[in-house]
Amino acid sequence: MSDCLFCKIGNGDIPADIVYKDEQVIVFKDISPKADVHLLMIPRLHINSLNELNAEHSALISHMMLLLPKLAKDQGLEHGFRTIINTGKGGGQEVFHLHIHLMGGTNLPGFNN
Ligand code: AMP
Ligand code: ZN
Repeated sequence: MSDCLFCKIGNGDIPADIVYKDEQVIVFKDISPKADVHLLMIPRLHINSLNELNAEHSALISHMMLLLPKLAKDQGLEHGFRTIINTGKGGGQEVFHLHIHLMGGTNLPGFNN
């Protein structure tokens, strides 16, 4: 999608602090981190949100899920990490290109306060 911020990061038109990339995904630092470690994982393929996923995306989503613990380990998050996927305006989604937040560290906000 030509006017999508994360597509532009994916194809290099907009710079980002990229920590990992392969043929299917790109992982970069969130520009406004909410924790010591706050990464965003995006598929190179434009998908608006979880609402637009279908069975053709199964291998891609599996790839993304399996990568998360490896990335967390690479970031030194030995005691655990949090993943968040905001879906739709009601879910707090601001950028409509599917992304997984990977967060961790000592400043991880509490989940119930
Ligand atoms: P969401 O609310 O789930 O759509 O999250 C969007 C995230 O994208 C927010 O945490 C923003 O801080 C982050 N963000 C927005 N623009 C950029 C950018 N240019 N580079 C990196 N992260 C960004
Ligand atoms: Zn996009």
